[in-house]
Amino acid sequence: EKYDKGLEKTRKSFGDRMNELFARFRRVDEDFFEELEETLIGADVGFDTAIKLTDSLRQEVKLKNAKKPSQIQNVIIEKLVDIYEAEGVDENNKINLQDDGLSVILFVGVNGTGKTTSIGKLANQYRNEGKKVLLAAADTFRAGAIDQLAVWGKRSGVEVVRGNAGGDPAAVVFDAVDKAKKENYDILLIDTAGRLQNKVNLMNELEKIKRVIQREFPTAPHEVLLVVDATTGQNALVQARQFKETTDVTGLVLTKLDGTAKGGIVLAIRNELHLPVKLVGLGEGINDLEAFEANDFAVGLFK
Ligand code: GDP
Repeated sequence: EKYDKGLEKTRKSFGDRMNELFARFRRVDEDFFEELEETLIGADVGFDTAIKLTDSLRQEVKLKNAKKPSQIQNVIIEKLVDIYEAEGVDENNKINLQDDGLSVILFVGVNGTGKTTSIGKLANQYRNEGKKVLLAAADTFRAGAIDQLAVWGKRSGVEVVRGNAGGDPAAVVFDAVDKAKKENYDILLIDTAGRLQNKVNLMNELEKIKRVIQREFPTAPHEVLLVVDATTGQNALVQARQFKETTDVTGLVLTKLDGTAKGGIVLAIRNELHLPVKLVGLGEGINDLEAFEANDFAVGLFK
């Protein structure tokens, strides 16, 4: 199964608790629904999602004239997916890649969330698919970020355009775009510095980077992916909200799902921010990055 490894912790706390709840209650009554709601909120699915799911299960009870919780247990996954997809965001969670020419993906997010690692993993995936991939180390702010990206580049056999530490990130992007164009690359992944401490600076920096890209590729960047760390729970939500105010985020990379029991945060983010989760990080290894797929994910929560 796709999320077997990454969702272990969430499954142990949330999935097992849910299964226990459904087995323990002999009748569907108010106590049952109350405990259900608590369990959902405890898994960080967010208040709204907890209420919506409980309500839709109440309806299901009426519809089926169900007496026992076990009679409605089989629809939970379906209802979770319904709630996830009812948000009006593009249901297609796939990364928007160009059929022809260069696809540019800009990565934003605060340090430590797993930005560099995710870029490295994605570069490796695309390379394995036979695509020509270029990385741009435009996080010139954090000490070590450039070298770290270079290590990932080596690991996946992908070239990295780099400038000097402390240099102008837009200059690195300029060089990368130029190279990508001249040498017919398929994909350019850009690492940026994510300093939320100074929102105006960050906004200006990202705008400048975008202008540099658009001089050569007017419809780019094709994705602006915000990387957030699932283990930080509600903090990830706060960060996502702030980045959304700073730049046009098109989707999320939710990392370190393997390190948390609160995988339900996926639903909270979707519900509150109306942003699709496009990729999930499920470990530190090069292959531990998966496309997000709501149904598989919901199945993975309960198995
Ligand atoms: P950046 O500062 O945002 O570029 O973060 P890094 O890419 O350097 O990652 C910070 C730490 O998180 C590193 O130790 C990574 O190995 C780790 N990390 C990144 N993604 C994942 C993930 O999906 N699961 C786990 N367990 N660790 C991760």
